[in-house]
Amino acid sequence: MESFAYVRAGSLAEAAEAFAAHPGARYLGGGTNLVDLMKLGVERPTALVDVTRLPLDRVTELPDGSLRIGALVRNSDLAAHPRVRDGWPALSQAVLAGASGQLRNAATTGGNLLQRTRCPYFQDVSKPCNKRRPGSGCGARDGVHRDHAVLGHSEQCIATHPSDMAVALAALDAEVELYGTAGVRRVAAA
Ligand SMILES: Cc1cc2nc3c(=O)[nH]c(=O)nc-3n(C[C@H](O)[C@H](O)[C@H](O)COP(=O)(O)OP(=O)(O)OC[C@H]3O[C@@H](n4cnc5c(N)ncnc54)[C@H](O)[C@@H]3O)c2cc1C
Ligand code: SF4
Repeated sequence: MESFAYVRAGSLAEAAEAFAAHPGARYLGGGTNLVDLMKLGVERPTALVDVTRLPLDRVTELPDGSLRIGALVRNSDLAAHPRVRDGWPALSQAVLAGASGQLRNAATTGGNLLQRTRCPYFQDVSKPCNKRRPGSGCGARDGVHRDHAVLGHSEQCIATHPSDMAVALAALDAEVELYGTAGVRRVAAA
C-alpha cells in the first residue's frame, strides 16, 4: 500500500502552491489514466492535487472567433459542444474516436493532453522501458510493437502519443495556456 497526500485545490494559485510544496505530486483530473497507472505501480505520486473543483469547465468563444477550452471540460462535453461540432468538427470527431462513452464522461481536456503512452511495456513495471525508467532499454523495439511509431520515433522510444484529441489540436494550430507558480505561459499544442 502506497500512501500519498490528497489536496483539493480551491483556486489556481492554491493548486500550483500545493503542487510545488509536494515534490513528486500529480494533478488529478478525471483520474482515468493516472489512477490506473497508480494501481499498476507505474505512477507513485507523493500527493494528488485535485483540480476538479476549479472553474475551468467552460468552452468560451473569444471576440476573434477562436475558442477557449477549459482544462476541466469533460471530453463528452467538448465533443458535443455545438460550436465545436459546427466550427471545428475534426476536434469533435477526434475526441469521439477515443476511449468509450463512460471514460469520456469522466476524462478532462487537460488530462487527455497529458495522459501517458499506452505502450504495454510502459504499463508493466517488470519490463524494460526507457520512458518509465531511463536507461533500462525499450521492450517494444524487439517485442510487440504493433501500433507503435513509424515516423518521428527515437533510438530510445518508439511509442506514439496516445491522445486522439491532441492530434486534432496540433493540426488546428491550437495553443495551450499553462499556469504555474511562475505565472502563465503559452505553448503550441504540437
Ligand atoms: C480503456 C481505455 C481506453 C482508452 N482509449 C483511448 C483512445 O482510444 N484515445 C484516446 O485519446 N484516449 C484513450 N484513453 C485515454 C483517455 O482519453 C484518458 O485516460 C483521459 O483523457 C485522461 O483524462 P483524465 O482527466 O482522466 O486524466 P487523469 O488521469 O486525471 O490525468 C492524466 C495526466 O494528466 C495530468 N493532469 C490532469 N489534469 C491536469 C491539469 N488540469 N493540469 C495539469 N496536469 C493535469 C495528471 O497529473 C496525469 O499525469 C483510453 C483510456 C482507457 C482507460
Ligand atoms: S516504446 Fe519502448 S521506451 Fe517507449 S514507452 Fe514503449 S517500451 Fe517504453
